[in-house]
Amino acid sequence: MSKHEQYRITPGSKVDLSKFKTDDDGGLDKADAQREFAELSDRLTKLQELMYAEAKHALLVVLQAMDAGGKDSTIRSLFAQINPQGRKVINFKAPNDVELKHDFLWRIHENTPRLGYLGVFNRSYYEDVLVVRVKNLVPEKRWKERYDHINHFEKMLTDEGTTVVKFFLHISKDYQKERLQRRLERPDKFWKFDPSDLAERRRWDDYQKAYEDALSRCSTGYAPWYVIPAERRWYRNLL
Ligand code: AMP
Ligand code: MG
Repeated sequence: MSKHEQYRITPGSKVDLSKFKTDDDGGLDKADAQREFAELSDRLTKLQELMYAEAKHALLVVLQAMDAGGKDSTIRSLFAQINPQGRKVINFKAPNDVELKHDFLWRIHENTPRLGYLGVFNRSYYEDVLVVRVKNLVPEKRWKERYDHINHFEKMLTDEGTTVVKFFLHISKDYQKERLQRRLERPDKFWKFDPSDLAERRRWDDYQKAYEDALSRCSTGYAPWYVIPAERRWYRNLL
């Protein structure tokens, strides 16, 4: 069994995030893990080139996390070495006025990777059942329908040649505090500090609950969710 498989959410299971460790290191030695990571990284680069050459399949990696959960650093660590011509990273921010006048998947679909490409979503349509739910941005009835819409959308992508994998980078509330603090203290990280992160932090429990429902309802055989312990960054990268 590959190391990451133990973190895959079984379809239909009920996720309780408090039962998932955030600082797990798999009992591994850091140097060994980094060596293995380097090998896998070379393999990923080669496979991406094959995928590009064949142009029959695409890969979509969805990354979600609480603020300061490490999405940006994960993307740098994992995908920097891949040929820029064959990958595309998309950051989803709050929808603009035009996007808000459409269904929630409208702005997503035009950004899914074409065949041969590796697409990475830094945040995603899952925000539409996370922040949108926590902050009541649409009526409950509407976000509740979205889990099924998401499952159908991912099924369609899969049937049309895109492999979809989803990673929740799991951190603790204390770890978030430490990372937000670091943004305040380090001049080179200050640009990342966003005062609204503090307001979101107060809704930590609501977000965890929203994540639990998303992970429970939308981990499927064709588009699995993984809950990645994300505080040991070398272990996170390896998984
Ligand atoms: P950041 O990733 O720090 O640049 O922040 C992006 C912001 O966009 C976060 O506060 C997200 O919650 C927000 N965002 C992303 N997608 C949506 C969405 N569909 N609806 C509302 N807010 C969103
Ligand atoms: Mg932010």
